[in-house]
Amino acid sequence: TAGLVVVGAGQAGFQVAASLREAGFAEPITLVGDEPDLPYQRPPLSKGYLAGRTDRQGLHLRAAGYFAEHGIVHRAETRAAGIDRDGTRLLLADGGVLPYGHLVLATGARNRPLPVPGAELEGVRQLRGLSDADALKGAIEAANRIVVVGAGFIGLEFAAVAAARGLSVTVVEAAGRPMARAVSGQTSEFFRRAHEALGVRFLFEAGVSAIEGAGGRVSGVRLSNGETLPADLVLVGIGVLPNQELAAQAGLAVADGIRVDAWLATADPAVSAIGDCARFPSPFATGVTPDGTVRIESVQNAIDQGRCLAARLAGRPAPYAALPWFWSDQGRHKLQIAGLGAPADASVPRGTGDAFSVFRFRDGRLSAVESVDRAGDHMIARRLLAAGTPLTPEQAADPGFDLKALAM
Ligand code: FAD
Repeated sequence: TAGLVVVGAGQAGFQVAASLREAGFAEPITLVGDEPDLPYQRPPLSKGYLAGRTDRQGLHLRAAGYFAEHGIVHRAETRAAGIDRDGTRLLLADGGVLPYGHLVLATGARNRPLPVPGAELEGVRQLRGLSDADALKGAIEAANRIVVVGAGFIGLEFAAVAAARGLSVTVVEAAGRPMARAVSGQTSEFFRRAHEALGVRFLFEAGVSAIEGAGGRVSGVRLSNGETLPADLVLVGIGVLPNQELAAQAGLAVADGIRVDAWLATADPAVSAIGDCARFPSPFATGVTPDGTVRIESVQNAIDQGRCLAARLAGRPAPYAALPWFWSDQGRHKLQIAGLGAPADASVPRGTGDAFSVFRFRDGRLSAVESVDRAGDHMIARRLLAAGTPLTPEQAADPGFDLKALAM
């Protein structure tokens, strides 16, 4: 039989293959990925790997031997260029053709380009893959003045690593606070101060109008107010775009992500999509988007969708209903988020100034919990949110209220 073909050998693509083998799936599995390395995890790229605490092997999801042992063919440096749905064949950029019984799109996302003149200058970098991280490690060694465009998770994690090395780091952000789309004002404020204590300078409500250069290399970042920040390294972290073109060209529905149903299937029963590239209905997305669908960029989502799809392909279908959760390490602080917090109509802090959680409510129901250096709260929050246990803002705010007992 033609078996399973997966496009994208990242976190989600690897997981569906591994979970299928665990479930005893006996058909051929081929992972087609355009990167050169073994499938690896991305989170350390902006954390331990960048800081030199994790080596390359430490990133790999499995050692090379695993793939041969489990009958998973990993085709590295191989790009999928088209889907022939009528012929149930994947068309490769090198002219090759792979017939499929089922096709999984796990193509992830790519960085949103900075839409200003000079963005192509040498020294202007982004961070998505291992090759980006390797290039950045070298660039940090040679850098003196760094400008980070975008105070999102990756920009801030990078800023913390660079500042810890004593480099001058300025973060330019269009919004009024860090991680504005993802977290409460209280959590933003905590991380603003934590980064400032490391020596990071923030410019909020600031736009970038151009990157300036000399001899093909970046020399500064021009702001919309006319000011220029001198820089020899610029890290652009302004979000991602889902890799949905293969699906769109094959006539499958896309809308900021490849549209799938609760079973992670596209309108073509032979094609599914998972991970960063997929837009799916979530029971946790009520009030988050008008149609209750979301696209989530997280390791949790990639892994749980890989498992959910594997269960369906192994004959045990269930709708995808996993609770979203996420983490980010910035300097010595760990932020953990359970649930989907925005938009929120109440945000209630619990804990002290150094270690706290913010309980967020939407339409009177607990929707998310952000924990800063409070891993215990995070685990309790996951249980409460997954079970839909009722909690009021007053209970969350009351230090004497036993949350753990409620979660049992
Ligand atoms: P990916 O891991 O991006 O894999 C997709 C793969 O498909 C890529 O290798 C891509 O090159 C390949 N591909 C795309 N198109 C084609 C094609 N046409 N042919 C062949 N191959 C193709 N999440 C967290 O939860 N916590 C964190 O702390 C965290 N930190 C992160 C730090 C960084 C620097 C980055 C970049 C991401 C981080 N994330 C974090 C997000 C997390 O890594 C992603 O959500 C996760 O990797 C998504 O998995 P995926 O398989 O959907 O996509």
